[in-house]
Amino acid sequence: MKASAFAYARATDVENALELLAAHGENARVLSGGQSLLPAMNLRLITPKLVVDIGDLAELRGVVVKGDVLTIGALTRHGDLLKSPEIASHAPLLREAVAHVAHPAIRNRGTIGGSLAQADPASELPACMLTLNATIVARGPAGERRIAAHEFFTGIYETALMPQELLVAVELPIPAKDLTHFFHEFSRRHGDYAILGLAAQALVKNDQFTDLSLGFFAIGDRPLLASSAGKLVGVVVTSAILSDACAALDAEVDPLEDQQATPAMRRHLAKVLLRRCVSSLLGRPDLRSGGPA
Ligand code: FAD
Repeated sequence: MKASAFAYARATDVENALELLAAHGENARVLSGGQSLLPAMNLRLITPKLVVDIGDLAELRGVVVKGDVLTIGALTRHGDLLKSPEIASHAPLLREAVAHVAHPAIRNRGTIGGSLAQADPASELPACMLTLNATIVARGPAGERRIAAHEFFTGIYETALMPQELLVAVELPIPAKDLTHFFHEFSRRHGDYAILGLAAQALVKNDQFTDLSLGFFAIGDRPLLASSAGKLVGVVVTSAILSDACAALDAEVDPLEDQQATPAMRRHLAKVLLRRCVSSLLGRPDLRSGGPA
C-alpha cells in the first residue's frame, strides 16, 4: 500500500521544527529515520497531514560526555551507537542491546529518539532506558523539560511526549566502573522483534547484589523495571530466594497475547531469563537450573 497524501517540510533547525509542530499539532508527525513511521504510513495505520523531517538537524546527533552524564542526541542512529567509544565504555549494556535491533540496513537509518518516541513494547532501547535510569529531554513551546524514563513510557506506542514536543536527547548517568550487565532476548531470528527480553545492570560486592535493575521488554504494554529485583539485593541468593523473586516477578507482570506468544509463555520466559541473569551476574551456575518457579 501507499501512504495517503501528506505535506512535507524539512526543518531548518530545532526552532523551525517546533514552530511547525505547534502550528499543526496532532496533524503533524516528526520524521527521524523513518523506519517505523513510513511503514505505518504506508499501511495507513497513521495518516499525518504534515511530515516534519528533522533529519538535517546535526545539532541533535552525537554522543557527548560531560561530567558524570552521557548525553545522546535524539538523531543518533543505532549504527552510530554501535560504533561510539563513549557508549562502549560508559553504557556497554546499551551497545549490546542495539546489536539486537533489527538489521544493519535499519540500524543505519533508525535513531534512538525515533525508537523511544515510537515506544514499541517489544523494543530493546526503551527497556535499557529504564535499567540505565535515563532522563528523556523534550523541547516544546514552553521550553525544555526532563522526563524520567520510568514516567516516559505510558502504553503501547504511547509516551509522555505531547504532539508539539520534540524528543531532543537522552541523558544517562555514567555508572561506577564496576557495574556489570546482562542482556538476553528470545526471538525467532537475530534481529526480529523480541518475544521476551531482559536488559539488566547490577553492582555486585562480596558475591551479593548491592544494586540490581531489571528492565524487561515485550512483557506488557510498556517496558517494566521489575520491583522484584529488591528481593535479591543485600542477601546471599539461595535457590529459595530466587524462587521467591520469580514468584514476585510473576505477580507484577501482565503479559500480552500476540502472534509470537501467549501470556503463559511470556510468564515462563520471564522467569527463565531472571534465573539466567542472576546466575550469570553472580557467577553462580548452580542458580541457573531448578526451572522457573
Ligand atoms: P521514525 O520512524 O522516523 O519515527 C518513529 C515515530 O517516532 C514516529 O511516530 C515519529 O513521529 C516519532 N519520532 C521520531 N523521532 C522523534 C523525535 N525526535 N521527537 C518526537 N517524535 C519523534 N526496533 C527495535 O527496537 N527492535 C527491533 O528488533 C526492530 N526491528 C525492526 C525490523 C524492521 C523490518 C523494521 C522496519 C524496523 C524495526 N525496528 C525495530 C524499528 C527501528 O528500530 C526504528 O528505527 C525505530 O523504531 C524508529 O526510529 P526512526 O528514527 O526510524 O523513527
